Amino acid sequence: MTASLNIALSKGRILDEILPLLGRAGIEPREDPAASRKLILDTNLPDIKLTIIRAADVPTYVQYGAADLGVAGKDVLMESEGDGLYELLDLKLARCRLMVAEPERLAARDDPKSWTRLRIATKYVNITRRHFAAKGIQTDIIKLYGSMELAPLVGLSDRIVDLVSTGQTLKANKLVEVEHIADISAWLVANKASMKMKHKPLTSLVSRLAEIVEQG
Ligand code: ATP
Ligand code: MG
Repeated sequence: MTASLNIALSKGRILDEILPLLGRAGIEPREDPAASRKLILDTNLPDIKLTIIRAADVPTYVQYGAADLGVAGKDVLMESEGDGLYELLDLKLARCRLMVAEPERLAARDDPKSWTRLRIATKYVNITRRHFAAKGIQTDIIKLYGSMELAPLVGLSDRIVDLVSTGQTLKANKLVEVEHIADISAWLVANKASMKMKHKPLTSLVSRLAEIVEQG
């Protein structure tokens, strides 16, 4: 019997973009994960299952071995405190960038080189603190769980740190990008123990996916 592999994924963007990739690797969920209420889904391969969880929980599941593999945005990996997993493969999916943004009217007279203390709303508290601490800039961080773009409009913060892809949401709220923090894409991560115990099936799946990513 071959060891079974459990892959942790989140609904939404990651799932939408990873399913075609898994399909090209010959892995098809038995039912539509976007529609199903099941949290563990069988696939056409008896030894591969998909676990559907919140995006921010993927590193935790993988770290504790509740999943052998996971797909998580680099933003989520950078923000998570744990280090008990391997970042195996850049899947080059769900690409965007992590940016500092501020209202247009502030940007007109703002110079990032003169920043000494910033009031920032974000869900990326750890990344934001680290990014600015490295530059000697103090931060007052207001933790939010979504709709960061609203914060400067209502005076909750002067600036935000958030993901940007097209820039449409920023534009609609009269915000502009002022500093780039990181380029983001979805990564395949693995539990360290699974890498040892299930080495063969795991590495063979990873190399199959790597080939497909290479082909673009
Ligand atoms: P929820 O929306 O359930 O609160 P979430 O915001 O973490 O959770 P998604 O919006 O599906 O879930 O985002 C999942 C991942 O997709 C992010 O961690 C990021 O890596 C990537 N992502 C988010 N926004 C964008 C975007 N605008 N363009 C491309 N990729 C994105
Ligand atoms: Mg979201």
